[in-house]
Amino acid sequence: MSSVFSLVHTLIRPEILALSAYHVPESGGFIKLDAMENPYLVPQSLQDEIAAAVACAPINRYPDPNPSLLKEKIRHLLDLPDGMDVLLGNGSDELIQLLAMAVNKPGAVLLSVEPSFVMYKMISTFIGMRYAGVPLAEDFSLDLPVMLETIEREKPALVFLAYPNNPTGNLFSCDEVRQIIAASPGLVVLDEAYYAFARDSFVPHLAQYPNLLVMRTFSKLGMAGLRLGFLAGSSLWLAQLEKLRLPYNVGVLPQLVAEKLLDNHPVLLEQADKIKQDRALLATRLSEIAGVRVYPSEANFLLFCVENATAVFLGLKQRNILIKNLNGGHPMLTNCLRVTVGTPDENQAFIVALQDVLSA
Ligand code: PMP
Repeated sequence: MSSVFSLVHTLIRPEILALSAYHVPESGGFIKLDAMENPYLVPQSLQDEIAAAVACAPINRYPDPNPSLLKEKIRHLLDLPDGMDVLLGNGSDELIQLLAMAVNKPGAVLLSVEPSFVMYKMISTFIGMRYAGVPLAEDFSLDLPVMLETIEREKPALVFLAYPNNPTGNLFSCDEVRQIIAASPGLVVLDEAYYAFARDSFVPHLAQYPNLLVMRTFSKLGMAGLRLGFLAGSSLWLAQLEKLRLPYNVGVLPQLVAEKLLDNHPVLLEQADKIKQDRALLATRLSEIAGVRVYPSEANFLLFCVENATAVFLGLKQRNILIKNLNGGHPMLTNCLRVTVGTPDENQAFIVALQDVLSA
């Protein structure tokens, strides 16, 4: 009889055996500035309203497989024209997977830029799809000639561009993105996870490009715990993707809470505006520290580099501050760290701890 070890190593695909699981660090007790969450809860009155609605939610039943009211609220928010719809996902991670599965014919390529959101590459590995990563220019803008050449050569079935990009924080040139969409034979997905902080979108361009979809998430807008993302675009695309969506991918409680929060969208946007203001302050404070280079950001986080990122990361951790160490992830991110904008007190605690670590 084979051991579990040998069975596992015989049966699991080699590329999965070679992967390390996506690492989510233990964060209890830390000032948590590692995952681009909104640090604010909603006002007490809204919390009470949500609690009352949740108290009598029909959790004995499966969720509505097609939550038309929630979808209608999102359509309204985006001002989507006729012929366009939204598809809901259990976070936008699930939508990335669904898109890749839908177009993964033998030999199909998923293309993105590097450094960018790691899930694009990880999901292509999960599902056995070829991946091509085009390096960004040194200032993290698009390297348009190389991008266009690679598109011509690889003919990617699927292109992901994070707009603004994670972990670099910048928005790519709108004109260059349009050239990429126009040159792509496959589907191009603009991942607008950080839209609330940049307020620049490709939704108005959806009607112009038959190969364009826009993806957003509610995670960065104060709903990371709900797990809700959506794709917006032509109903013809979404009807095909719909076939792959697992029937009950968004639970009763996330549907209900998201509806309440969308009814109070201005509250969330005010929080995002406050985070943007605090981002500017935090960037200034960081830039004043000797030995720190901070990059411009249109998102709710800042990318910065120091002389020894891993030592700084560990020093901050010892001081109860959790940020993201990007060192070792990609050559262009050597000695880079990413900090999420928190409350003013959290940002202050981070700056004090960083100064302390750097002067130790
Ligand atoms: N896209 C980008 C660019 C991201 O940074 C993230 C989260 N870090 C996601 C998508 C995934 O968001 P979620 O699954 O929480 O919706």
